[in-house]
Amino acid sequence: MPTLLQAISLTKHYNVESGGLFRRTRTALHAVDGVDLTIKAGETLGLVGESGCGKSTLGRLLIRLIPATGGQVTFDGQEITRLGAKALRAARRSMQIVFQDPFGALNPRMSVEDTIMEPLLIHGVVKAVAAREAVTAMLDKVGLPASARYRFPHEFSGGQRQRIGIARALILRPKFVVLDEPVSALDVSVQAQIVNLLTDLQAELGLTYLFIAHDLGVVKHISTRVAVMYLGKVVEIADKRPLYARPLHPYTQALLASVPVTHPSQRKRGLARKPPLTGDIPTALAPPPGCRFHTRCPHVMPICSAQEPAVRRSGPAHFVACHLITADQDT
Ligand code: SF4
Repeated sequence: MPTLLQAISLTKHYNVESGGLFRRTRTALHAVDGVDLTIKAGETLGLVGESGCGKSTLGRLLIRLIPATGGQVTFDGQEITRLGAKALRAARRSMQIVFQDPFGALNPRMSVEDTIMEPLLIHGVVKAVAAREAVTAMLDKVGLPASARYRFPHEFSGGQRQRIGIARALILRPKFVVLDEPVSALDVSVQAQIVNLLTDLQAELGLTYLFIAHDLGVVKHISTRVAVMYLGKVVEIADKRPLYARPLHPYTQALLASVPVTHPSQRKRGLARKPPLTGDIPTALAPPPGCRFHTRCPHVMPICSAQEPAVRRSGPAHFVACHLITADQDT
């Protein structure tokens, strides 16, 4: 599969002011810190990590919804990090986002029809009549009746509102969609329906996804590859099968241990016996030196707090940043 998107050393720091009236200090919040990432056309890259690890910020950086502090993103052969306003607007048609909170993301005073066709009119893609026809087709694609067009967001359930959010994101026929925790706010029974819908739409429309979630259980069914993020860094990235069967980074192992194990074969392999993650994620205002996970890692060694581990290959498409891998499994 050809590369659709590539991020190199992508960084986002926010300046945070603290202190009293006369002694204000400025500190950098390291939301995303030097991330390298490749997303191939047609795949779904799952991006997981605890709340506050920077995954939503990374998703927004990849489609330049927010500006980067450093690094670059190349999308579909075009470097988008420093595009001017006009060129960025044109590029945005191919890059869309679906938000976690479908109610908060929708304008309560706009009908479903106006909500879904607004991007078409903003980008001047079609005239109003053609836009209405496109809305009819899109409502059908996301499993909503044509009559939904005249109603307002508060008249729908959470799952239906997320279908509206998906329709709005796809109306411009983008190539790449960032799905930012698209099912986290939904009931478990509805989550599967939305994941299945996203899978069907991907096959039908040839979409590429970045699927952001806070646990590995949710991304398991939809992802082609999975990237694990901790405190602004990607610490492990691999094809789905090796990552779930043989996670190498202690943080990935801990995240997997926190996923409920129901299948007997998994219990036999001991996946349920690993200790779950304990302790709070350190603040991104003062990330720990060396390996950022060293304050919580059960395998911590003296080198871990002194030296940041490099990202190393450990298998055909398996990359991990951990000093344990340097010592034992580097290929
Ligand atoms: Fe743990 Fe050290 Fe590996 Fe970090 S580098 S995950 S602290 S063993």
